[in-house]
Amino acid sequence: MIDVVSVASEAYPLIKTGGLADVTGALPAALARHDVAVRTLLPGYPAVLGAIENGRVVAEFQEFFGGFAQLIAGRAGGLDIIAINAPHLYDRQGNPYVGPDKQDWPDNWKRFAGLSFAAYEIAQGVVEGYHPQILHCHDWQAAMAPAYVAFNAPTRVKTVMTVHNIAFQGRYEWNIFPELRIDFRAAQEGAIEYFGGIGYLKAGLQTADALTTVSPTYALEIKTAAYGMGLEGLLQQRAGALTGITNGIDYGDWDPMVDPMLRQHFGHNTTEQRAGNRRALLERFNIDESPGPLFSVVSRLTWQKGLDMLVEVVDQLIAAGGKLIVLGSGDAEIENGLAGATLRHPGKVGFIRAYDEPLSHLVQGGADVMMVPSRFEPCGLTQLYGLRYGCVPLVSRVGGLADTVIDANEAAVEAGAATGIVFAPATPEAFMDAIHRAIRLYGHEKTWRKMQRRGMKSDVSWDLSAGKYAKLYGRLLGVKSHDDHAD
Ligand code: ADP
Repeated sequence: MIDVVSVASEAYPLIKTGGLADVTGALPAALARHDVAVRTLLPGYPAVLGAIENGRVVAEFQEFFGGFAQLIAGRAGGLDIIAINAPHLYDRQGNPYVGPDKQDWPDNWKRFAGLSFAAYEIAQGVVEGYHPQILHCHDWQAAMAPAYVAFNAPTRVKTVMTVHNIAFQGRYEWNIFPELRIDFRAAQEGAIEYFGGIGYLKAGLQTADALTTVSPTYALEIKTAAYGMGLEGLLQQRAGALTGITNGIDYGDWDPMVDPMLRQHFGHNTTEQRAGNRRALLERFNIDESPGPLFSVVSRLTWQKGLDMLVEVVDQLIAAGGKLIVLGSGDAEIENGLAGATLRHPGKVGFIRAYDEPLSHLVQGGADVMMVPSRFEPCGLTQLYGLRYGCVPLVSRVGGLADTVIDANEAAVEAGAATGIVFAPATPEAFMDAIHRAIRLYGHEKTWRKMQRRGMKSDVSWDLSAGKYAKLYGRLLGVKSHDDHAD
Protein backbone atom coordinates (compact mmCIF):
# COMPACT_ATOMS: atom_id res chain seq x y z
CA MET A 1 0.00 0.00 0.00
CA ILE A 2 1.33 3.45 -0.94
CA ASP A 3 0.24 6.42 1.20
CA VAL A 4 -0.42 9.61 -0.73
CA VAL A 5 -1.59 13.08 0.28
CA SER A 6 -3.51 14.70 -2.55
CA VAL A 7 -3.09 18.47 -2.10
CA ALA A 8 -5.80 20.50 -3.79
CA SER A 9 -7.85 23.67 -3.56
CA GLU A 10 -11.08 21.95 -4.62
CA ALA A 11 -12.61 18.45 -4.70
CA TYR A 12 -16.06 17.31 -5.86
CA PRO A 13 -18.60 17.05 -4.21
CA LEU A 14 -17.33 19.39 -1.47
CA ILE A 15 -16.23 22.39 -3.48
CA LYS A 16 -16.04 22.73 -7.26
CA THR A 17 -15.36 25.42 -9.83
CA GLY A 18 -14.22 23.17 -12.67
CA GLY A 19 -12.61 19.97 -13.86
CA LEU A 20 -9.90 20.03 -11.18
CA ALA A 21 -12.53 19.19 -8.56
CA ASP A 22 -13.88 16.31 -10.62
CA VAL A 23 -10.39 14.84 -10.84
CA THR A 24 -9.38 15.26 -7.20
CA GLY A 25 -12.80 13.99 -6.13
CA ALA A 26 -12.71 10.84 -8.26
CA LEU A 27 -9.07 9.79 -8.29
CA PRO A 28 -8.80 8.59 -4.66
CA ALA A 29 -11.44 5.86 -5.08
CA ALA A 30 -9.88 4.78 -8.38
CA LEU A 31 -6.42 4.66 -6.78
CA ALA A 32 -7.72 2.57 -3.89
CA ARG A 33 -8.24 -0.21 -6.42
CA HIS A 34 -4.52 0.00 -7.21
CA ASP A 35 -3.27 -0.31 -3.64
CA VAL A 36 -2.88 3.41 -3.07
CA ALA A 37 -4.41 5.06 0.01
CA VAL A 38 -5.14 8.74 -0.56
CA ARG A 39 -5.95 11.43 1.97
CA THR A 40 -7.05 14.72 0.48
CA LEU A 41 -5.70 17.92 2.03
CA LEU A 42 -8.11 20.82 1.48
CA PRO A 43 -8.45 24.37 2.81
CA GLY A 44 -11.14 24.46 5.50
CA TYR A 45 -13.74 26.45 3.59
CA PRO A 46 -17.16 26.40 5.30
CA ALA A 47 -18.42 23.85 2.72
CA VAL A 48 -15.57 21.51 3.62
CA LEU A 49 -15.62 21.87 7.43
CA GLY A 50 -19.41 21.57 7.46
CA ALA A 51 -19.30 18.24 5.62
CA ILE A 52 -16.74 16.45 7.82
CA GLU A 53 -18.06 13.50 9.81
CA ASN A 54 -16.34 12.34 12.97
CA GLY A 55 -13.70 15.04 12.55
CA ARG A 56 -10.79 14.99 14.97
CA VAL A 57 -8.03 17.52 15.48
CA VAL A 58 -4.75 15.91 14.43
CA ALA A 59 -2.41 18.91 14.60
CA GLU A 60 -2.36 22.53 15.77
CA PHE A 61 -0.31 25.56 14.74
CA GLN A 62 -0.21 28.64 16.99
CA GLU A 63 1.04 30.82 14.16
CA PHE A 64 -0.06 29.80 10.67
CA PHE A 65 0.28 32.60 8.12
CA GLY A 66 -1.17 35.20 10.47
CA GLY A 67 -3.45 33.23 12.77
CA PHE A 68 -4.22 30.02 14.60
CA ALA A 69 -4.83 26.82 12.64
CA GLN A 70 -5.73 23.18 13.15
CA LEU A 71 -5.68 20.15 10.92
CA ILE A 72 -8.93 18.21 11.13
CA ALA A 73 -9.10 14.65 9.81
CA GLY A 74 -12.30 12.81 8.94
CA ARG A 75 -14.59 11.64 6.13
CA ALA A 76 -16.37 14.07 3.86
CA GLY A 77 -18.03 13.62 0.47
CA GLY A 78 -16.77 10.05 0.25
CA LEU A 79 -13.15 11.13 0.73
CA ASP A 80 -10.63 10.79 3.53
CA ILE A 81 -10.02 14.43 4.28
CA ILE A 82 -7.54 16.51 6.16
CA ALA A 83 -8.91 20.05 6.31
CA ILE A 84 -6.99 23.12 7.40
CA ASN A 85 -9.21 24.94 9.85
CA ALA A 86 -7.74 28.45 9.64
CA PRO A 87 -10.66 30.89 9.78
CA HIS A 88 -8.49 33.92 9.00
CA LEU A 89 -7.65 32.34 5.63
CA TYR A 90 -10.58 30.15 4.59
CA ASP A 91 -13.74 31.07 6.50
CA ARG A 92 -15.31 32.74 3.47
CA GLN A 93 -18.47 31.69 1.67
CA GLY A 94 -18.79 31.03 -2.04
CA ASN A 95 -16.10 30.71 -4.66
CA PRO A 96 -12.75 29.56 -3.26
CA TYR A 97 -10.65 32.09 -5.18
CA VAL A 98 -12.63 35.30 -5.61
CA GLY A 99 -14.66 37.54 -3.32
CA PRO A 100 -18.18 38.87 -3.91
CA ASP A 101 -16.66 41.55 -6.19
CA LYS A 102 -15.38 38.73 -8.46
CA GLN A 103 -11.78 39.84 -7.79
CA ASP A 104 -9.14 37.44 -6.46
CA TRP A 105 -8.92 37.58 -2.68
CA PRO A 106 -5.90 39.85 -2.02
CA ASP A 107 -4.39 37.31 0.37
CA ASN A 108 -4.60 34.35 -2.03
CA TRP A 109 -0.80 34.11 -1.95
CA LYS A 110 -1.06 33.42 1.76
CA ARG A 111 -4.12 31.16 1.56
CA PHE A 112 -2.44 28.81 -0.91
CA ALA A 113 1.07 29.08 0.48
CA GLY A 114 -0.73 27.90 3.63
CA LEU A 115 -2.25 24.93 1.81
CA SER A 116 1.18 23.96 0.48
CA PHE A 117 2.91 24.54 3.81
CA ALA A 118 0.41 22.32 5.61
CA ALA A 119 1.22 19.56 3.11
CA TYR A 120 4.89 19.97 3.90
CA GLU A 121 4.17 19.81 7.65
CA ILE A 122 2.26 16.56 7.12
CA ALA A 123 5.23 15.20 5.16
CA GLN A 124 7.36 16.16 8.20
CA GLY A 125 5.19 13.95 10.38
CA VAL A 126 3.06 16.56 12.17
CA VAL A 127 0.09 14.14 12.16
CA GLU A 128 0.96 11.47 14.68
CA GLY A 129 1.19 7.98 13.21
CA TYR A 130 0.81 9.18 9.62
CA HIS A 131 3.83 9.08 7.32
CA PRO A 132 2.77 9.60 3.70
CA GLN A 133 5.29 8.66 1.03
CA ILE A 134 4.02 10.94 -1.74
CA LEU A 135 2.65 14.47 -1.90
CA HIS A 136 0.56 14.75 -5.07
CA CYS A 137 0.12 18.47 -5.70
CA HIS A 138 -2.58 19.81 -8.03
CA ASP A 139 -2.15 23.13 -9.85
CA TRP A 140 -0.58 26.37 -8.62
CA GLN A 141 -2.51 26.45 -5.36
CA ALA A 142 -0.58 23.38 -4.17
CA ALA A 143 2.59 24.05 -6.12
CA MET A 144 4.67 25.56 -3.32
CA ALA A 145 4.59 22.23 -1.47
CA PRO A 146 7.39 20.63 -3.56
CA ALA A 147 9.44 23.79 -3.01
CA TYR A 148 9.02 23.57 0.78
CA VAL A 149 10.05 19.92 0.57
CA ALA A 150 13.07 20.80 -1.57
CA PHE A 151 14.38 23.69 0.51
CA ASN A 152 13.15 23.42 4.10
CA ALA A 153 14.23 20.68 6.53
CA PRO A 154 14.51 17.43 4.57
CA THR A 155 11.79 14.79 4.53
CA ARG A 156 11.69 11.43 2.79
CA VAL A 157 8.55 12.23 0.88
CA LYS A 158 8.50 12.32 -2.94
CA THR A 159 6.53 14.97 -4.78
CA VAL A 160 4.34 14.87 -7.89
CA MET A 161 3.15 18.10 -9.51
CA THR A 162 0.13 17.85 -11.81
CA VAL A 163 -0.78 20.71 -14.14
CA HIS A 164 -4.50 20.90 -14.85
CA ASN A 165 -4.24 24.25 -16.62
CA ILE A 166 -0.98 26.08 -17.19
CA ALA A 167 -2.81 29.36 -17.73
CA PHE A 168 -3.28 29.70 -13.98
CA GLN A 169 0.13 30.18 -12.40
CA GLY A 170 -0.06 32.02 -9.06
CA ARG A 171 2.27 34.97 -9.70
CA TYR A 172 3.13 37.41 -6.92
CA GLU A 173 5.53 40.22 -6.02
CA TRP A 174 8.82 39.52 -4.29
CA ASN A 175 7.71 41.37 -1.17
CA ILE A 176 5.77 38.30 0.05
CA PHE A 177 9.02 36.34 0.33
CA PRO A 178 9.74 36.95 4.05
CA GLU A 179 6.31 35.61 5.00
CA LEU A 180 6.47 32.49 2.81
CA ARG A 181 8.43 30.54 5.42
CA ILE A 182 10.69 29.01 2.79
CA ASP A 183 14.44 28.68 3.21
CA PHE A 184 16.52 31.49 1.73
CA ARG A 185 18.20 29.04 -0.66
CA ALA A 186 14.95 28.87 -2.63
CA ALA A 187 15.59 32.50 -3.59
CA GLN A 188 19.34 32.13 -4.01
CA GLU A 189 18.95 29.22 -6.38
CA GLY A 190 16.25 30.93 -8.43
CA ALA A 191 13.77 28.12 -7.85
CA ILE A 192 10.78 30.30 -7.08
CA GLU A 193 11.74 33.36 -9.12
CA TYR A 194 9.50 33.99 -12.12
CA PHE A 195 9.79 37.05 -14.36
CA GLY A 196 11.11 39.17 -11.51
CA GLY A 197 8.49 38.04 -9.00
CA ILE A 198 7.53 34.74 -7.38
CA GLY A 199 5.76 32.05 -9.37
CA TYR A 200 4.07 29.26 -7.43
CA LEU A 201 3.48 26.95 -10.39
CA LYS A 202 6.98 27.68 -11.63
CA ALA A 203 8.35 26.68 -8.21
CA GLY A 204 6.43 23.39 -8.28
CA LEU A 205 7.49 22.57 -11.81
CA GLN A 206 11.10 23.30 -10.96
CA THR A 207 11.27 21.30 -7.73
CA ALA A 208 8.83 18.36 -7.88
CA ASP A 209 10.27 14.88 -8.40
CA ALA A 210 7.76 14.08 -11.15
CA LEU A 211 5.57 16.28 -13.32
CA THR A 212 2.35 15.23 -14.96
CA THR A 213 -0.35 16.87 -16.95
CA VAL A 214 -3.78 15.65 -17.87
CA SER A 215 -3.32 14.38 -21.44
CA PRO A 216 -0.40 13.28 -23.64
CA THR A 217 -1.10 15.95 -26.27
CA TYR A 218 -1.15 18.73 -23.65
CA ALA A 219 2.16 17.36 -22.31
CA LEU A 220 3.63 18.01 -25.77
CA GLU A 221 1.89 21.34 -26.26
CA ILE A 222 3.06 22.97 -23.03
CA LYS A 223 6.67 22.52 -24.09
CA THR A 224 6.01 24.97 -26.95
CA ALA A 225 5.76 28.75 -26.86
CA ALA A 226 2.22 28.65 -28.27
CA TYR A 227 0.84 26.80 -25.22
CA GLY A 228 3.48 26.98 -22.48
CA MET A 229 2.48 30.44 -21.27
CA GLY A 230 6.06 31.31 -20.37
CA LEU A 231 6.89 27.98 -18.73
CA GLU A 232 7.85 26.16 -21.94
CA GLY A 233 11.61 26.61 -21.40
CA LEU A 234 11.50 25.08 -17.93
CA LEU A 235 9.31 22.24 -19.19
CA GLN A 236 11.73 21.53 -22.02
CA GLN A 237 14.51 21.27 -19.45
CA ARG A 238 12.42 18.95 -17.33
CA ALA A 239 10.95 16.98 -20.23
CA GLY A 240 12.31 13.73 -18.81
CA ALA A 241 10.22 14.17 -15.67
CA LEU A 242 6.99 15.08 -17.49
CA THR A 243 4.26 12.66 -18.57
CA GLY A 244 0.68 13.07 -19.76
CA ILE A 245 -1.99 10.95 -18.08
CA THR A 246 -5.48 11.43 -19.48
CA ASN A 247 -8.25 12.12 -16.99
CA GLY A 248 -11.08 9.69 -16.57
CA ILE A 249 -14.58 10.34 -15.26
CA ASP A 250 -16.35 8.99 -12.21
CA TYR A 251 -18.66 6.21 -13.40
CA GLY A 252 -20.48 6.38 -10.07
CA ASP A 253 -21.55 10.00 -10.57
CA TRP A 254 -21.90 9.70 -14.34
CA ASP A 255 -23.92 6.62 -15.31
CA PRO A 256 -26.87 7.18 -17.66
CA MET A 257 -28.48 3.92 -16.48
CA VAL A 258 -29.00 5.23 -12.93
CA ASP A 259 -28.22 8.97 -12.88
CA PRO A 260 -30.85 10.52 -10.57
CA MET A 261 -30.51 13.85 -12.36
CA LEU A 262 -31.93 12.42 -15.60
CA ARG A 263 -35.61 12.34 -16.51
CA GLN A 264 -35.16 9.01 -18.30
CA HIS A 265 -32.41 6.42 -18.00
CA PHE A 266 -30.76 4.75 -20.99
CA GLY A 267 -27.84 2.61 -22.11
CA HIS A 268 -25.97 2.16 -25.36
CA ASN A 269 -28.69 -0.14 -26.69
CA THR A 270 -31.53 2.12 -25.62
CA THR A 271 -30.43 5.54 -26.82
CA GLU A 272 -33.98 6.24 -28.04
CA GLN A 273 -34.82 6.68 -24.35
CA ARG A 274 -32.81 9.90 -24.42
CA ALA A 275 -35.92 11.47 -25.98
CA GLY A 276 -37.46 12.04 -22.54
CA ASN A 277 -34.44 14.03 -21.41
CA ARG A 278 -34.39 15.95 -24.68
CA ARG A 279 -38.02 16.99 -24.23
CA ALA A 280 -37.32 18.12 -20.68
CA LEU A 281 -34.39 20.17 -21.95
CA LEU A 282 -36.36 21.83 -24.73
CA GLU A 283 -38.92 22.88 -22.18
CA ARG A 284 -36.34 24.12 -19.71
CA PHE A 285 -34.53 26.20 -22.36
CA ASN A 286 -37.70 27.32 -24.19
CA ILE A 287 -36.82 25.63 -27.46
CA ASP A 288 -39.41 24.54 -30.05
CA GLU A 289 -39.78 20.93 -31.13
CA SER A 290 -38.48 20.86 -34.69
CA PRO A 291 -36.20 18.63 -36.76
CA GLY A 292 -32.45 19.15 -36.68
CA PRO A 293 -29.83 18.45 -34.03
CA LEU A 294 -29.80 20.11 -30.63
CA PHE A 295 -26.29 21.51 -30.08
CA SER A 296 -25.22 22.18 -26.52
CA VAL A 297 -22.50 23.79 -24.41
CA VAL A 298 -21.82 23.34 -20.67
CA SER A 299 -18.86 25.52 -19.83
CA ARG A 300 -17.15 28.51 -18.40
CA LEU A 301 -17.76 31.16 -21.05
CA THR A 302 -14.21 32.24 -21.82
CA TRP A 303 -11.72 32.83 -24.61
CA GLN A 304 -9.95 29.58 -23.68
CA LYS A 305 -13.15 27.66 -24.38
CA GLY A 306 -13.50 29.36 -27.79
CA LEU A 307 -17.04 30.47 -27.02
CA ASP A 308 -16.56 33.92 -28.51
CA MET A 309 -16.44 31.92 -31.78
CA LEU A 310 -19.83 30.45 -30.95
CA VAL A 311 -21.25 33.96 -30.70
CA GLU A 312 -19.80 34.62 -34.17
CA VAL A 313 -21.32 31.53 -35.80
CA VAL A 314 -24.61 31.15 -33.94
CA ASP A 315 -26.69 32.78 -36.71
CA GLN A 316 -25.19 30.39 -39.26
CA LEU A 317 -25.81 27.42 -36.96
CA ILE A 318 -29.49 28.30 -36.81
CA ALA A 319 -29.68 29.03 -40.55
CA ALA A 320 -28.21 25.58 -41.22
CA GLY A 321 -31.01 23.93 -39.28
CA GLY A 322 -29.48 23.48 -35.81
CA LYS A 323 -30.71 24.55 -32.39
CA LEU A 324 -28.52 25.63 -29.49
CA ILE A 325 -28.63 25.52 -25.71
CA VAL A 326 -25.89 26.94 -23.50
CA LEU A 327 -25.43 26.45 -19.75
CA GLY A 328 -22.67 28.56 -18.25
CA SER A 329 -21.40 31.92 -17.20
CA GLY A 330 -18.24 33.94 -17.64
CA ASP A 331 -17.00 36.79 -19.81
CA ALA A 332 -19.56 39.59 -20.12
CA GLU A 333 -19.06 39.90 -23.87
CA ILE A 334 -19.84 36.24 -24.50
CA GLU A 335 -22.79 36.32 -22.12
CA ASN A 336 -24.19 39.39 -23.90
CA GLY A 337 -23.60 37.83 -27.31
CA LEU A 338 -25.54 34.72 -26.32
CA ALA A 339 -28.32 36.71 -24.70
CA GLY A 340 -28.60 38.66 -27.97
CA ALA A 341 -28.86 35.41 -29.92
CA THR A 342 -31.77 34.21 -27.78
CA LEU A 343 -33.63 37.41 -28.73
CA ARG A 344 -32.86 37.05 -32.45
CA HIS A 345 -33.77 33.35 -32.48
CA PRO A 346 -36.62 32.75 -30.04
CA GLY A 347 -37.43 29.06 -29.73
CA LYS A 348 -34.11 28.15 -31.35
CA VAL A 349 -31.42 29.41 -28.97
CA GLY A 350 -31.61 28.98 -25.19
CA PHE A 351 -29.14 30.33 -22.66
CA ILE A 352 -29.14 29.68 -18.91
CA ARG A 353 -26.52 31.83 -17.26
CA ALA A 354 -25.80 29.68 -14.24
CA TYR A 355 -23.69 26.98 -12.69
CA ASP A 356 -26.10 24.09 -12.27
CA GLU A 357 -24.71 20.59 -11.68
CA PRO A 358 -28.02 18.65 -12.05
CA LEU A 359 -28.93 20.53 -15.23
CA SER A 360 -25.48 19.76 -16.67
CA HIS A 361 -26.31 16.03 -16.38
CA LEU A 362 -29.65 16.55 -18.14
CA VAL A 363 -27.94 18.40 -20.99
CA GLN A 364 -25.51 15.51 -21.46
CA GLY A 365 -28.36 13.02 -21.35
CA GLY A 366 -30.68 14.89 -23.74
CA ALA A 367 -28.83 17.10 -26.22
CA ASP A 368 -27.51 15.65 -29.49
CA VAL A 369 -24.12 17.36 -29.69
CA MET A 370 -21.75 18.58 -26.95
CA MET A 371 -19.56 21.37 -28.31
CA VAL A 372 -16.09 22.12 -26.91
CA PRO A 373 -14.37 24.45 -29.42
CA SER A 374 -11.46 25.31 -27.09
CA ARG A 375 -8.35 27.21 -28.14
CA PHE A 376 -6.47 25.11 -25.63
CA GLU A 377 -7.78 22.31 -23.43
CA PRO A 378 -5.54 20.41 -21.00
CA CYS A 379 -7.93 17.44 -20.91
CA GLY A 380 -11.53 18.57 -20.88
CA LEU A 381 -14.21 16.57 -19.12
CA THR A 382 -17.41 17.69 -20.79
CA GLN A 383 -16.55 15.79 -23.97
CA LEU A 384 -15.96 12.67 -21.84
CA TYR A 385 -19.37 13.06 -20.18
CA GLY A 386 -20.74 13.57 -23.70
CA LEU A 387 -19.21 10.29 -24.88
CA ARG A 388 -20.62 8.44 -21.90
CA TYR A 389 -24.10 9.97 -22.31
CA GLY A 390 -24.50 9.68 -26.08
CA CYS A 391 -24.15 13.44 -26.54
CA VAL A 392 -21.79 13.34 -29.52
CA PRO A 393 -18.77 15.59 -28.91
CA LEU A 394 -17.82 18.25 -31.44
CA VAL A 395 -14.38 19.50 -30.40
CA SER A 396 -11.30 21.36 -31.58
CA ARG A 397 -8.16 19.28 -32.10
CA VAL A 398 -6.14 20.45 -29.08
CA GLY A 399 -4.90 18.88 -25.85
CA GLY A 400 -7.07 16.21 -24.32
CA LEU A 401 -9.82 16.82 -26.86
CA ALA A 402 -7.50 15.48 -29.57
CA ASP A 403 -6.66 12.48 -27.39
CA THR A 404 -10.21 11.45 -26.49
CA VAL A 405 -12.44 11.99 -29.54
CA ILE A 406 -12.06 10.14 -32.87
CA ASP A 407 -13.15 12.28 -35.79
CA ALA A 408 -15.92 11.07 -38.08
CA ASN A 409 -13.91 11.46 -41.27
CA GLU A 410 -14.86 9.10 -44.07
CA ALA A 411 -12.23 6.50 -43.21
CA ALA A 412 -13.16 6.45 -39.53
CA VAL A 413 -16.87 6.19 -40.27
CA GLU A 414 -16.16 3.38 -42.70
CA ALA A 415 -13.96 1.58 -40.19
CA GLY A 416 -16.57 2.05 -37.47
CA ALA A 417 -14.15 3.97 -35.26
CA ALA A 418 -15.59 7.50 -35.13
CA THR A 419 -16.88 8.88 -31.82
CA GLY A 420 -17.34 12.56 -32.64
CA ILE A 421 -16.43 15.52 -34.82
CA VAL A 422 -12.99 17.08 -34.50
CA PHE A 423 -11.86 20.28 -36.22
CA ALA A 424 -8.75 22.38 -36.62
CA PRO A 425 -7.61 25.10 -36.49
CA ALA A 426 -9.68 26.75 -33.77
CA THR A 427 -11.22 29.40 -36.03
CA PRO A 428 -14.86 30.34 -36.59
CA GLU A 429 -14.65 29.02 -40.17
CA ALA A 430 -13.37 25.57 -39.20
CA PHE A 431 -15.84 25.49 -36.29
CA MET A 432 -18.72 26.25 -38.65
CA ASP A 433 -17.53 23.57 -41.10
CA ALA A 434 -17.65 21.09 -38.23
CA ILE A 435 -21.18 22.20 -37.35
CA HIS A 436 -22.25 21.62 -40.98
CA ARG A 437 -20.65 18.20 -40.84
CA ALA A 438 -22.50 17.35 -37.63
CA ILE A 439 -25.81 18.39 -39.19
CA ARG A 440 -25.14 16.17 -42.21
CA LEU A 441 -24.15 13.19 -40.06
CA TYR A 442 -27.20 13.67 -37.86
CA GLY A 443 -29.29 13.33 -41.00
CA HIS A 444 -27.94 9.79 -41.49
CA GLU A 445 -29.70 8.25 -38.53
CA LYS A 446 -27.94 4.91 -38.68
CA THR A 447 -24.46 6.41 -38.85
CA TRP A 448 -25.33 8.80 -36.04
CA ARG A 449 -26.67 6.09 -33.74
CA LYS A 450 -23.59 3.98 -34.38
CA MET A 451 -21.31 6.86 -33.50
CA GLN A 452 -23.33 7.58 -30.38
CA ARG A 453 -23.20 3.95 -29.31
CA ARG A 454 -19.47 3.68 -29.96
CA GLY A 455 -18.83 6.73 -27.80
CA MET A 456 -20.96 5.29 -25.01
CA LYS A 457 -19.02 2.05 -25.13
CA SER A 458 -15.57 3.63 -25.16
CA ASP A 459 -13.72 3.39 -21.85
CA VAL A 460 -13.43 6.83 -20.28
CA SER A 461 -13.27 5.50 -16.73
CA TRP A 462 -10.45 6.18 -14.29
CA ASP A 463 -9.26 2.57 -14.32
CA LEU A 464 -6.41 2.86 -16.82
CA SER A 465 -5.25 6.29 -15.72
CA ALA A 466 -5.32 5.50 -12.01
CA GLY A 467 -3.06 2.55 -12.82
CA LYS A 468 -0.64 4.95 -14.50
CA TYR A 469 -0.52 7.21 -11.43
CA ALA A 470 0.01 4.15 -9.23
CA LYS A 471 2.93 3.08 -11.39
CA LEU A 472 4.43 6.55 -11.27
CA TYR A 473 4.24 6.61 -7.46
CA GLY A 474 5.82 3.16 -7.32
CA ARG A 475 8.64 4.22 -9.60
CA LEU A 476 9.39 7.29 -7.49
CA LEU A 477 9.55 5.16 -4.38
CA GLY A 478 11.64 2.51 -6.05
CA VAL A 479 9.03 -0.12 -5.28
CA LYS A 480 7.13 -2.36 -7.63
CA SER A 481 3.56 -1.16 -7.58
CA HIS A 482 0.58 -3.48 -7.68
CA ASP A 483 0.27 -2.50 -11.37
CA ASP A 484 3.85 -3.34 -12.28
CA HIS A 485 3.23 -6.84 -10.91
CA ALA A 486 0.15 -7.05 -13.09
CA ASP A 487 2.15 -6.31 -16.26
P1 ADP B 1 -12.51 23.48 -16.87
O1 ADP B 1 -12.00 22.78 -15.68
O2 ADP B 1 -11.45 24.12 -17.72
O3 ADP B 1 -13.62 24.45 -16.57
P2 ADP B 1 -13.43 20.83 -17.73
O4 ADP B 1 -14.15 20.38 -18.96
O5 ADP B 1 -12.17 20.10 -17.38
O6 ADP B 1 -13.17 22.40 -17.87
O7 ADP B 1 -14.38 20.69 -16.47
C1 ADP B 1 -15.53 21.48 -16.34
C2 ADP B 1 -16.42 20.84 -15.28
O8 ADP B 1 -17.32 21.83 -14.79
C3 ADP B 1 -17.29 19.73 -15.82
O9 ADP B 1 -17.61 18.85 -14.77
C4 ADP B 1 -18.55 20.50 -16.28
O10 ADP B 1 -19.68 19.67 -16.36
C5 ADP B 1 -18.66 21.50 -15.17
N1 ADP B 1 -19.34 22.74 -15.56
C6 ADP B 1 -18.84 23.78 -16.27
N2 ADP B 1 -19.76 24.77 -16.39
C7 ADP B 1 -20.86 24.33 -15.74
C8 ADP B 1 -22.15 24.90 -15.48
N3 ADP B 1 -22.47 26.11 -15.93
N4 ADP B 1 -23.02 24.18 -14.76
C9 ADP B 1 -22.70 22.95 -14.30
N5 ADP B 1 -21.50 22.36 -14.50
C10 ADP B 1 -20.59 23.04 -15.20
